[in-house]
Amino acid sequence: MAEFPQAIKKLISAFERLPGVGPKSATRLAFYLLNTPQDFIADLSNSILEVKSKVKICSACFGVGESEICGICDDNKRNKKEICVVERSIDVMAIEKMKTFKGVYHVLGGVINPLDHIGPEELKIAELVVKIKNLLTEDEAIEVILATNPTMEGEATALYIKKKLLELDNRGKLLISRIGSGLPMGADLEYADESTLARAMEGRREL
Ligand SMILES: [Zn+2]
Repeated sequence: MAEFPQAIKKLISAFERLPGVGPKSATRLAFYLLNTPQDFIADLSNSILEVKSKVKICSACFGVGESEICGICDDNKRNKKEICVVERSIDVMAIEKMKTFKGVYHVLGGVINPLDHIGPEELKIAELVVKIKNLLTEDEAIEVILATNPTMEGEATALYIKKKLLELDNRGKLLISRIGSGLPMGADLEYADESTLARAMEGRREL
């Protein structure tokens, strides 16, 4: 059997490293690109390079943005006392699409998962604790919505965070809620349709 040229093989194996792309799709994509006009290829490669150089991680919420502080954290109209804790930036996008949440976010960067050797220290949990501790000194009520995915790891992470945050609250100023039912167990926020997600946010319950 004839072998593919080296450059194509290299591209195929690069595509195979992408989530959800198997060898067949990787091969199809590589050959698709081979037959597309040069400017499309140039645009695509530039976008890929730009995503690393231009996208910044927000120093307040750890979500993605175009500057040191993202557009959401920088918006005065957003309620800084209502903090939605999510696993990844992609979950921020999913919740933002509903256009109903007026608080801010805190992106953990994943969930606690002992099998993958991800403990609380690997996530932005300590940063969340400091943030809430500072907010609590301002003497106003704060709501933290734990919107990790309804998976075993997501639930365990939510419970861990709840325990950590409750240790800070000695005056009953902190309401901790969990994104509500409607999201099937094992679901991914990222793939939930908008109305299901809206119901889950509305149906949040105190944890
Ligand atoms: Zn931010």
